[in-house]
Amino acid sequence: MAVIIIKKRTLCMVLTLLLALALLFATYQFSYHPRLVQSVNQPHIIRDVKVTRKAVAFTFDDGPDPQGTLAILKVLKKHQAKATFFMVGTQVRKYPEVARQVAREGHEIGNHGYHHNYRTYCNLEQALHDIKLNEALIHSITGQRPKLLRPPGGFLADGLVESSQKHGFNIVFWSWIQDTKDWKNPPAHRQAEHILRNIKPGQILIFHDGGGERTQTVETLDMCLERLAVEGYRFVTISELLRMERHLE
Ligand SMILES: [Zn+2]
Repeated sequence: MAVIIIKKRTLCMVLTLLLALALLFATYQFSYHPRLVQSVNQPHIIRDVKVTRKAVAFTFDDGPDPQGTLAILKVLKKHQAKATFFMVGTQVRKYPEVARQVAREGHEIGNHGYHHNYRTYCNLEQALHDIKLNEALIHSITGQRPKLLRPPGGFLADGLVESSQKHGFNIVFWSWIQDTKDWKNPPAHRQAEHILRNIKPGQILIFHDGGGERTQTVETLDMCLERLAVEGYRFVTISELLRMERHLE
């Protein structure tokens, strides 16, 4: 009987702990990151684009980076692919020549915030200031004025979606199903298998060119571009994908 009591106690403790953890997680999600859940169905947030032709958009966050970005540019060139790079202002300041090379090679540059600070994107005024700061910097360095915003961490301050229209930029997320979380460096073959199994025209694929060692990302990209080209896919920037949607291509 004593054994049973101990087991019951242990079970109660484990259940209480699990409940506490679940509550903590829910509190974090809904207070600190209140717009993540609602954003899933926001009509003004771009995630998948409706196109009839086989085309997808590869996107890269957190650069420019002298290692990751340059290695990715090489693979894109090898497959004659165009992509979109969501750049962070502090990185553009550090590596302006890498940012210029991205623009020179015909890729699109998007805005990923000047400071890449999640808390800034919980407050509309601070978020807009950060966006404008990065927009001006990217324009002065590369000559491109970004029309696409991917808020760092997907954080959306109240009113940011509405004011994006007014300030002339689109908010772009990514196709949820295709997020391999490459920043955690899962093996390239596993990432590529996942992407190839779930690929559909109009998807926006998310990767990272900054934020650490990117060997697995570069290999994944190479494998995916190789295979998808054989299947007849084109690799375009997000603006090109949106243009195709407007013309129902
Ligand atoms: Zn990021």
